[in-house]
Amino acid sequence: MKIEQFQVLKTSGLFQTNSYVFKSTDKWFVVDPGSGIFGPLMGLVPVDTILQVLLTHAHYDHIAGLVELARNWKIQLFVSSEDAPLLKDPELNFSRQLGNPLVIDYEWLDIDEHFETVAAPGHTPGSRVIIFDGHVFTGDVVFSNTIGRWDLCPLHNAKWLMNETIRKLTKLFNSLPNDWLVLPGHGKIVTVSELFTLNPFFKR
Ligand SMILES: [Zn+2]
Repeated sequence: MKIEQFQVLKTSGLFQTNSYVFKSTDKWFVVDPGSGIFGPLMGLVPVDTILQVLLTHAHYDHIAGLVELARNWKIQLFVSSEDAPLLKDPELNFSRQLGNPLVIDYEWLDIDEHFETVAAPGHTPGSRVIIFDGHVFTGDVVFSNTIGRWDLCPLHNAKWLMNETIRKLTKLFNSLPNDWLVLPGHGKIVTVSELFTLNPFFKR
């Protein structure tokens, strides 16, 4: 499935979350809708569309825009089974700590059954790397020049899990074409080859 009309939207205010929007085979996809996504999406995506919303993980700054989307479009929500409980729990999705408790109780589908994903636990229990037509969405697990925090994860072995994840993703990135894009939840988008130059956690 080819990606068309690809756009990066900066959302969630101070957090500057990268929300990604694209069209593929006449369907519209949103990865990690942050707060403020409604404005830029209006005019781009027709209102009678069913939006396929894919979550790399269920932290507040990556899900806050779901409410805006659900008000204006029909949505089909895809998340990992381990991160789905975070949607309904303002403590675990960090919305309460950020002063805006958020409970998302929409129906969801298991992202692993519908898309190409790699389990990448450590930042959250159910973080996923999503691979779609040469685009690798890494959420808050891998950034252009560093990796995500594991100390926010409620699992006691999160640091160990993160290490395992980075080892697994090193193999993955080494197996991918150099010009594929690595699209993190925040900050700069890089190619696979740039990642190996910029990010000290990844070695050829
Ligand atoms: Zn996060």
